[in-house]
Amino acid sequence: MTALDLLDLDPSLSAEERQIRDVVRQLVDDRVRPHVAAWYEEGRVPARELAREFGKIGLLGMHLTGYGCAGASAVAYGLACQELEAGDSGLRSLVSVQGSLAMYAIWRYGSEEQKQRWLPAMAIGEAIGCFGLTEPDHGSDPASMTTRARRDGDDWILAGAKMWITNAPIADVAVIWARTDEGVRGFAVPMDTPGVTAREIGRKMSLRASVTGEIALDDVRLPADAQLPDAIGLKAPLSCLTEARYGIVWGSLGAARDCLETALAYATSRTQFGRPLAGFQLTQAKLADMAVELVKGQLLALHLGRLADAGRLRPEQVSVGKLNNVREALAIARQCRTILGANGVSGEYPVMRHANNLESVLTYEGTSEIHQLVVGQRLTGLSAFA
Ligand SMILES: Cc1cc2nc3c(=O)[nH]c(=O)nc-3n(C[C@H](O)[C@H](O)[C@H](O)COP(=O)(O)OP(=O)(O)OC[C@H]3O[C@@H](n4cnc5c(N)ncnc54)[C@H](O)[C@@H]3O)c2cc1C
Repeated sequence: MTALDLLDLDPSLSAEERQIRDVVRQLVDDRVRPHVAAWYEEGRVPARELAREFGKIGLLGMHLTGYGCAGASAVAYGLACQELEAGDSGLRSLVSVQGSLAMYAIWRYGSEEQKQRWLPAMAIGEAIGCFGLTEPDHGSDPASMTTRARRDGDDWILAGAKMWITNAPIADVAVIWARTDEGVRGFAVPMDTPGVTAREIGRKMSLRASVTGEIALDDVRLPADAQLPDAIGLKAPLSCLTEARYGIVWGSLGAARDCLETALAYATSRTQFGRPLAGFQLTQAKLADMAVELVKGQLLALHLGRLADAGRLRPEQVSVGKLNNVREALAIARQCRTILGANGVSGEYPVMRHANNLESVLTYEGTSEIHQLVVGQRLTGLSAFA
């Protein structure tokens, strides 16, 4: 038990869950921590290499069954996300987008042929997937999407643009959501299809150890069997987002934990006015408040994970978790930065990197405002946004 496990949550995890967590923690310690500050500063990350290593230990699509996926519990998947994001939110994003968005969409809504074609290769990290829902003019309101798919004989013709798509520049396959005459439908689009281009989005001040891109779809001709047969309407992409948001409920706490561990160590070793910073009451108040929020968030994540494993997790409950845990993680990262003083703004320490990353995590997979509206709708029975 570490000092931050104030509530002694460890025994609430099964031996298998603890083992998966420890394996991922070790991988992050060995393969991510020594390099991640440089990747972040350079805005470059060896994503393909890392995907293969993550695939080797079964992290990609780990909560899915069959097709080479590990079939782990939701709690184990959450714990893995927490460890990955303790390394960097960008690496958790790589795993979330691969497993919870791209692979889940194909696994849940694809044909047997689509599953056989993509999932085994994606599970071992040989094929990278991305998920294109957001457009330049439509983010929080995907129902207004303008990317269109129209029939041409048996084929489909896809035209439009997707924006802010994680992994797009390195992806082999994109799950693209488009409007058709019958409503929203999903398509598994090989990225080497003529008419598909992906451009990397540069100058990001956040999630710099993650590749983000824009996808142009210029009258892309696809065979009929590129359509995901069981994805009918906007509820299909929204169900994929629920999967990925669940991972963020846990992941964001990993970033917060890493900040708090850093601040705790720093406050214990740095002396001002003749005593360690940790010896001042004001510092202890900060540390105590942050540790309380961290364990509250972990309890919430564990509760949602157990609901998921019992098949009872509802989307608005995931909104409760994403809203609270990302908001609190960001508050913790900012507060930890104050404890490190000037060193808090230095890339020598992970705190500012985590804080900057969490700004993206606050926005993607539904902004905090959107999750407030989801919870508000549940409370009042009134939709304020749709
Ligand atoms: C690094 C990064 C990676 C991403 N990866 C992906 C990806 O892989 N795939 C993908 O499809 N998308 C991805 N996104 C896009 C992300 O999901 C969108 O940015 C997000 O949905 C918000 O959309 P927007 O940026 O267009 O903001 P807008 O929708 O324009 O919102 C701007 C502000 O207005 C607020 N707002 C909007 N509507 C309302 C309302 N009704 N009431 C109150 N406030 C409102 C929002 O909360 C926000 O604060 C990524 C984004 C980032 C930053």
